[in-house]
Amino acid sequence: MLEINNLTVSVSDKIILKDFSLTIKEHEIHTLMGLNGSGKSTICKVLMGDPTYKIVEGSIFYKGIDLLKQDTVSRARMGLYLVNQNPIEIPGVKNSEMLRVALEQKNNKHYSVLEFYKIVNNILEKIKLDKDFIHRGINENMSGGERKKNELLHLWVLEPDLIILDEIDSGVDIDNLNIISESLKEYYETHNASFLIITHHTNILKKLVPNYVHILNDGKIIESKDHTLAFDIENNGFNRTNKVSESIDYE
Ligand code: ADP
Ligand code: MG
Repeated sequence: MLEINNLTVSVSDKIILKDFSLTIKEHEIHTLMGLNGSGKSTICKVLMGDPTYKIVEGSIFYKGIDLLKQDTVSRARMGLYLVNQNPIEIPGVKNSEMLRVALEQKNNKHYSVLEFYKIVNNILEKIKLDKDFIHRGINENMSGGERKKNELLHLWVLEPDLIILDEIDSGVDIDNLNIISESLKEYYETHNASFLIITHHTNILKKLVPNYVHILNDGKIIESKDHTLAFDIENNGFNRTNKVSESIDYE
């Protein structure tokens, strides 16, 4: 479904990703972990076509199509969806206006107000948001948790196939994180979706159990393993030659 081959990416002449390769098949869950500044958010933005990032070398194919030749809107239409690490505010643009236009554009179909609210209200109830949430400006004055839930609402309405979550768990309290994880799990089970989950924690991975966990170091994947790797990292850190359990002095 997604094939990233030997990708090298730079920003203002500084190489950020080096020889980065990753393949995600249909209905697979992959997790990407790595120290701050290792390039995790960069790969997310490159996948969505952020023009800040220059592709020096390599290729990205999505559903067999050369992604690097597509603009961001085409990528979204093809079913790519990114939940940003810090979802931005778009004051003055209502959630309802943006979402209805996006839904109509995606499905090439007109939705009456009634049809649209039926879809939305159902989702709002599931993720425990008030009905008036849809009338607010996009992320305007919303708390960290509300922003992430708003992204989740958009996800359910637009029904993408490959979902990239860039630290969806940051700035979210444990109760809301459980609601978000549960909802993502339901989405995974009811849609033929794949996930690329970037996180420092295993909380969300207990519900969305990854097929593979990759460690990104200095712009390159240096290790890939099953879900146990995430728990190992959470317990012992990235520098696992110095495992905490081994360094305890049991005198
Ligand atoms: P992570 O998400 O893993 O913490 P990022 O992908 O955000 O890391 O950043 C990787 C490196 O690239 C960092 O050193 C960061 O400062 C740099 N970087 C990312 N985006 C830009 C940019 N637009 N301009 C300059 N440097 C950038
Ligand atoms: Mg980041």
